[in-house]
Order: sequence, then C-alpha cells, then structure tokens
Amino acid sequence: PVNVGILEVQGAFMEHKVSLQKAASSLDLEIHVHGIRTAGDITDSLEGLIIPGGESTTISIYLKRNNMEDVLRKWVLNERHVTWGTCAGMILLAKVTENQKLGGQTSLGVMDMDVSRNFFGRQLQSFEAPVSITDKHFSVVTGYDTFPGVFIRAPAIVKVLSSDVQVLATTRAPDAEDDVIVAAKQGNVITSAFHPELTEDCSWHMYFLQTIILKRT
Ligand code: GLN
Repeated sequence: PVNVGILEVQGAFMEHKVSLQKAASSLDLEIHVHGIRTAGDITDSLEGLIIPGGESTTISIYLKRNNMEDVLRKWVLNERHVTWGTCAGMILLAKVTENQKLGGQTSLGVMDMDVSRNFFGRQLQSFEAPVSITDKHFSVVTGYDTFPGVFIRAPAIVKVLSSDVQVLATTRAPDAEDDVIVAAKQGNVITSAFHPELTEDCSWHMYFLQTIILKRT
C-alpha cells in the first residue's frame, strides 16, 4: 500500500482523507492514511504528505510548539517523499511571504516562491472560479484542462523565484483583469491555493497519488 500522511492540526483534513480514499479507489490503489499530530508521526515509511488549508499562523505556531518544524522540513526536502500543501499549506511551504518581508519567519520555507497570504482581498473572501491547468502531466492523468477551483481567503503565488518551480495552474478571479498562479510544483513538492478536497472531483488527489507512484519507478 501507499502510506500517506495528513497533517491533522487544524482545518480541512477530514475532507482530504475522504477525497484521497476516493482517488485511490479510482486508481485501484491500496492506501493507508495516517493522521500526523506529533514529530514522531513523521516517519520515513510515509511516501506522501498533505498539509491542508486552515489558518497558517495557527498551524505554524502548533508546529513550532511541538518541535515539528525541522523534522517536517527535512522530510519534505527528502527526494523520496511527495508533499502537497493546499491553501494555508501553500503559505507554510513558501520561502517568501508577507510575514518574512516584515522581518518574521517563514514556517517550512521550501518552495522558491513569493506567496501573498490573502491575495484575493476581503471582498472576495470566498469564490469559485475555473482553474486553467498548465501542466501536461496533470491533463494526461485527469483528462482535464480546467478544474472548478474553490477559494477560501486564499493565497496566490505572486512571484516564482526559481526556474525549478513549474507552474501547474492559473486562475482569474471574478472581476480581476489578470491571471494569477494558483498551483505549482518544485521537485516533489506540490502546492495549490484552492481546495480540491471541497469538491466532489478527486482528480487533484489522483494527480498527487500518481506523483507518488511515478517516484517509485
Ligand atoms: N489565508 C489563510 C491563512 O492565512 C489561508 C486560508 C485557507 O487555508 N483556506 O492561513
């Protein structure tokens, strides 16, 4: 089976579990899902890890208090592991955020990108918009070019800081004039600003599991 961890600190972790199970059965794959709450839960037997959405400050304080930050960063940077951070997870993974610009720290800081924490502003706290997939592999796995994106006080990638970062998807918010990057991949670290676990469609979870399987071969 594939061992996948979900960080269960706060936020939408239950929904991720449901979507993962669904994706696994569509792929005819046996998976074990492990809830991650302590540093001891972060083991080498995990092949994949989901960092869910929620509130990034709350999650990063929890990680710090429980001495999980360094262990988690090391795990994520290991080439044999695949990580996927959604929404607040994207903020935790970014090397550059508003917090860091104000002299604070980033949490995990492993992806070369500048992330704006509440990019879509207060009026647009939550919205749905089509996400355009710019990654061929994703389209091949899912057969899709667009995906219904659910955005909840979502961040966005305002700048990619290295050519190692591959843009996976962009979106245009209602009334916005420009497209913005809402999903990316660097090595084995995937991130999305929207919440695929809140839609019926499990194609992003399939993509995540496929990335793990591809790693093995
Ligand atoms: N903007 C939120 C934060 O700062 C993230 C929102 C989400 O994960 N739905 O953490």
